[in-house]
Amino acid sequence: MTERLIVVGSGVAGLTAALAAHARGLDVTVITKSLLTESNTRYAQGGIAAVTADDDSVSSHVADTLRAGAGLSEPTSAEAVCAAGTETVAELIAAGVRFDVSDGRLARGLEAAHSRARILHADGDATGAAIVGALVARALEAGIDVREHTMVADLLVRDGRVHGVHLLDGEQLDTDAVVLATGGAGHLYPYTTNPAVATGDGLALALRAGAVLADVEFVQFHPTSLAVGGNVLVSEAVRGEGAVLRDVHGHRFMLDVHPDAELAPRDVVARAIARQMAVQNGAPVHLDATALGADFLARRFPTIDATVRGRGIDWSVEPVPVTPAAHYVMGGVATDLWGRTSVPGLLAVGEVAWTGLHGANRLASNSLLEGAVFGRRVVDGLIEQSASSTPTLTSGEEPIVLRAAGADRWCGRDDIQQLAWEALGLEREGALLDRALQTLTTWQVASPTDVKSAEDANLLLVARAVAAAALAREESRGAHWRTDAPDVARSVRHSFVRWEA
Ligand SMILES: Cc1cc2nc3c(=O)[nH]c(=O)nc-3n(C[C@H](O)[C@H](O)[C@H](O)COP(=O)(O)OP(=O)(O)OC[C@H]3O[C@@H](n4cnc5c(N)ncnc54)[C@H](O)[C@@H]3O)c2cc1C
Repeated sequence: MTERLIVVGSGVAGLTAALAAHARGLDVTVITKSLLTESNTRYAQGGIAAVTADDDSVSSHVADTLRAGAGLSEPTSAEAVCAAGTETVAELIAAGVRFDVSDGRLARGLEAAHSRARILHADGDATGAAIVGALVARALEAGIDVREHTMVADLLVRDGRVHGVHLLDGEQLDTDAVVLATGGAGHLYPYTTNPAVATGDGLALALRAGAVLADVEFVQFHPTSLAVGGNVLVSEAVRGEGAVLRDVHGHRFMLDVHPDAELAPRDVVARAIARQMAVQNGAPVHLDATALGADFLARRFPTIDATVRGRGIDWSVEPVPVTPAAHYVMGGVATDLWGRTSVPGLLAVGEVAWTGLHGANRLASNSLLEGAVFGRRVVDGLIEQSASSTPTLTSGEEPIVLRAAGADRWCGRDDIQQLAWEALGLEREGALLDRALQTLTTWQVASPTDVKSAEDANLLLVARAVAAAALAREESRGAHWRTDAPDVARSVRHSFVRWEA
């Protein structure tokens, strides 16, 4: 029987889970590493994908999701998430999110690989901030117990069951169940769109607690982040509205790469830019939004407009330099459709979780929806199905087992990030992955006494998991591109990784 719940993380997934649990009478504590408002969610620009128009359908949203997933998405997960779109949007509106409207109806944008205009946004390009603002207000109003600036350093496990959390300051909190909602791992790489809190903690916590990770080799790189003054994301929606990519000579090179040009799947665009940059000796390519006009850019993309102009660039008259950056981890802690992991008492939702939705590549704007849908489902599962047995995870290969082994060299975050960029980045190669994995096995970080070193220890473990899964996947599929195995394998399989202390 679950009466007490600890939710780790305060993005869309964690806040939705906390509010749903509170509404169902559970005693909830939210623990979050920084401010309650700080998370990947806060920076989400483009919007949230959901079927809200008469000319759209759940089956079309599912089909787009499965197509983007390149054969590796789980249809049951896609159906559960897409079918809940309308209701989830209604719940967010009821919670106070004010999505943009046009002619009295929800304004819907089109994004890469969506066959319908179904992306809702708020305050133009500040959708995530609007969602966080509303959910935080509801959580505070409800009096939910919140602990900010508090890092969960480990999970407490007894007799194979998670029964609490160990905080970095040494305190231990007991509970009936823990929901990991710790978000992504962008800081595994030196170039990322993610805020500083995204250091893959949840993946490492889950591994050390005995849980299985799935498909962690699939990391999405956003094709267009600013190449000046930090990798601030320039949303897909800018290309959706008509901006184009040009090389140093002004040539629109994406026309030579894919029939959908700038609106091709993210990984295709990101790799094409990376290759073009290599041809240009590392110089960034340019995003040309000049045809959209200053008024439209300021109205439709107020945040990006202010950021770009803050870097001294008037993007209504000159193209902006852009580079790919690590953006989203498709894999994660393997869960069933109720957020349950392979370890009793441990649940996972949002970006840290693998539900099978995203497959080998995430469809743009599906992650906010996934976080909100599973944030609710995890609580429904806890309450309504608490008597059922261990969840059945998608079966497949035997998990790859990582072990603690003879680490004899100190490393810092820069070392991990550099190695990840070179070996685990946009293009991978078997021999390089093998070497990277061996190197990672010999590395260790200073004992985790402060946030930075605790995060680095987590990043090191996550890097090993990604390297091992990427090495084992001898094919190119979705966001995972192997130069030594450029074809898609005929058999479709998930990859699983676990840790043995
Ligand atoms: C710049 C940017 C733009 C994006 N745009 C879109 C978009 O338009 N549409 C879309 O669908 N998706 C978008 N995404 C992806 C989407 O924002 C995320 O996938 C989603 O918000 C993840 O939500 P979450 O609740 O799982 O995690 P997050 O929102 O990342 O929240 C994680 C939380 O966990 C906390 N935390 C982490 N580790 C610990 C620890 N050890 N102890 C305590 N707390 C911890 C963090 O502080 C944070 O509060 C974007 C992402 C970025 C970075």
